[in-house]
Amino acid sequence: MNGHVLLTPGPLTTSAATRAAMLHDWGSWDSAFNALTKSVCRDLVAIVGGEHSHVCVPLQGSGTFSVEAALGTLVPRPGRVLVANNGAYCQRIVRALGYLGRSVVVLEHREDEAADPARVDAALAADPAISHVAQVHCETGTGILNPLSEIAAVVAARGRRLIIDAMSSYGAIPIDVHDIPFDALVAASGKCLEGVPGMGFVIARRGALELAEGNSHSLAMDLHDQWLYMRRTGQWRFTPPTHVVAALRQALDQYWQEGGQPARLARYRENCRVLVSGMRALGLRPFLADAVQAPIIVTLHAPADTAYDFGDFYRRVRDKGFIIYPGKLTAVDTFRVGCIGAIDSEVLRRAVAAVGEALSDMGVTHLAARAPDGEKAERQAPAAFTPDRVAATNDWHEPRA
Ligand SMILES: *Cc1c(COP(=O)(O)O)cnc(C)c1O
Repeated sequence: MNGHVLLTPGPLTTSAATRAAMLHDWGSWDSAFNALTKSVCRDLVAIVGGEHSHVCVPLQGSGTFSVEAALGTLVPRPGRVLVANNGAYCQRIVRALGYLGRSVVVLEHREDEAADPARVDAALAADPAISHVAQVHCETGTGILNPLSEIAAVVAARGRRLIIDAMSSYGAIPIDVHDIPFDALVAASGKCLEGVPGMGFVIARRGALELAEGNSHSLAMDLHDQWLYMRRTGQWRFTPPTHVVAALRQALDQYWQEGGQPARLARYRENCRVLVSGMRALGLRPFLADAVQAPIIVTLHAPADTAYDFGDFYRRVRDKGFIIYPGKLTAVDTFRVGCIGAIDSEVLRRAVAAVGEALSDMGVTHLAARAPDGEKAERQAPAAFTPDRVAATNDWHEPRA
């Protein structure tokens, strides 16, 4: 038995074979490890059909390191980045751009509203100085799916550059460089590929990366330098996460055996369907409308009952074998349950049962949410879009904590 089932979007539940792939020590200079890195990178580019146009630059660290590295390497210092913000990971990009000293324009959205391509288009039309758009595909803070193809089309039509945070969608939700033009896409080992956490990677358009020399403020985060060094030597610049790479190789083998992206999406969809319908049957309500819910992670309204307390709930569900996530929303009390990882719908069925038992053991009888939809919508209503508003958010920096 592998401890708890992680119903969290990274780290997540991995297969026994993936964990077993880490029972070997690799020399980072050894040709066998270099071959492993090369084969992993080849597969990562192939997943988005980028063999002829794009390269993979892996980077040590969690996914955020790669997001920050992509922004710092590919956005020139005088560049300006548009971010359609509908959640915590969009906000993290805005925050990273602040640290990097890059100008940023934020298009605020409600957290239950998908990024609006028409508003992105209007913002690009209003401000020719915007050089890049940074777009989160699946906003894991809520689980909402943003319309990536439509946004990519708008960005390309306006002649701007697209950087995608596809951390929680890559490998499961289709992305193909032939349909979705992008300069960079960022993802990581420990999400839908079902590897262990510890490395991110950037799939970059070769032409964009070639022009990026000297942009980065940081040696460790310079993807251009990492790419050149790896091309020359076959090695990572600094100590590689050897066991993570080996586990990812194994996880990719399983990915292809399962049937690649279509099979992974089908399994996650079924996981999500069982989870959402089971939670609804208990009386719990998802935060998002079905039409914008990605089959990656589901946000649920916390019960209004005074006997409900997330900490107590979490421990009870954990003691039944499942790790869930707290909510990441400011205005509404929620919790989250992931659909991804080496799990099938039977696991989700048992998780729903565990949630039902935990709530009943706590004496929670009133499972309906605290705030009805209308109330929430009013509280989080976005300000109307105007070019003035875009101007007012230029150079917006999140205050440091
Ligand atoms: C997981 C995730 C990241 C990276 O988060 P880390 O905590 O650094 O792993 C970035 N963006 C999205 C959308 C994610 O889901």
